[in-house]
Amino acid sequence: MALIVHKYGGTSMGSTERIRNVAKRVAKWARAGHQMVVVPSAMSGETNRLLGLAKELQPAQATPAMLRELDMIACTGEQVSVGLLALALQAEGMPAVSYNGWQVPIQTDSAYTKARIQSIDDVRVKADLDAGKVVIITGFQGIDGDGHVTTLGRGGSDTSAVAVAAALKAHECLIYTDVDGVYTTDPRVVPEARRLNTVSFEEMLEMASLGSKVLQIRSVEFAGKYRVPLRVLSSFTPWDINIEEEARSGTLITFEEDEKMEQAVVSGIAFNRDEAKVTVLGVPDKPGIAYQILGPVADANIDVDVIIQNVSHDGKTDFSFTVHRNDHARVLDLLRNTVAPSVGAAVVEGDARICKVSIVGIGMKSHVGVAAKMFRTLSDEGINIQMISTSEIKTSVVIDEKYMELAVRSLHRAFDLDQASGPA
Ligand code: ASP
Ligand code: MG
Repeated sequence: MALIVHKYGGTSMGSTERIRNVAKRVAKWARAGHQMVVVPSAMSGETNRLLGLAKELQPAQATPAMLRELDMIACTGEQVSVGLLALALQAEGMPAVSYNGWQVPIQTDSAYTKARIQSIDDVRVKADLDAGKVVIITGFQGIDGDGHVTTLGRGGSDTSAVAVAAALKAHECLIYTDVDGVYTTDPRVVPEARRLNTVSFEEMLEMASLGSKVLQIRSVEFAGKYRVPLRVLSSFTPWDINIEEEARSGTLITFEEDEKMEQAVVSGIAFNRDEAKVTVLGVPDKPGIAYQILGPVADANIDVDVIIQNVSHDGKTDFSFTVHRNDHARVLDLLRNTVAPSVGAAVVEGDARICKVSIVGIGMKSHVGVAAKMFRTLSDEGINIQMISTSEIKTSVVIDEKYMELAVRSLHRAFDLDQASGPA
């Protein structure tokens, strides 16, 4: 018998019929002797519907007072979900009780629409579990120090589930979703992509931040910090599938490197079209220049990703970096109107037609020549690399976006990730 947390996404909760299936699956786990905590999302489309209503009444520039009300509105989707699921479980003859975030409570900071969890009280939940009940807790929601309702950002139910699992020291947190695990890359781009049985926490963190959308990145950070064993698995299997088989399915995110069975050098290829590049040409090459350019960018709250500075010629150099595409116009304005004149730079250029492609793998720590193989593969395809950035377990390149699919497919093949060649 173990304490298990299940998280169900909006699709799994999308209709009363589907909620009944979730209830049957959860009841199966409870009857197998487990203590069950369930964290569901709002029914699919519901959060968008609620925020759409809010948008009709809210001007473009929301004030903090408005953000508070957005959370008040958005959090109701999850309240409906937990209540419905509790009813469905009770109808199955399984005692169950539902809670809003504030009733647990799940304490957060006051950053409305993107709050961070600070602590979770386990007393009430433990008492219910000991009384033989399934406990259902809203995803996405929390409460701040002054008693205001908060939400954790879009996709935040993943983080709620992992945080609840950490607080209760759960044996495992199972994330039921509409994909059946974590893949070597997006199967929509590479049909040969295959599901990984295990992936290390560090790799998952890179993949989530590099654009693989399976888990909210904060949930992965949380799992790492509290070492919560996490499994991503399909919610589309029949609810009455054999429980041992179900418990082994999907992708397990592991913390022990030697637990990792598939010792591939590269575990996955991530890609992201959400970035844009800016280049400041003819910058005087002297100490403090990077700070003079990037300082104002940081002050404007614009995140910078890949950065390169060229070798200088005649005391001048070029400085390039990437930002989120949504910030591209803003950063160009800032550079042209304020930064370039003050550092004495000649020209500022922008390019939104780029993408970032990354290879990720724990094996890169102990193998040489991995990046070189990536560059050779791209060069064989005639793809020009504009920027490079590396960490211990990933190498990212910025290339023209029109070559993205070609790059991902050829790298997937070059690193033996295609279905036929790798371990099953
Ligand atoms: N319902 C919220 C959203 O749609 C939270 C979640 O589903 O994880 O973003
Ligand atoms: Mg989600």
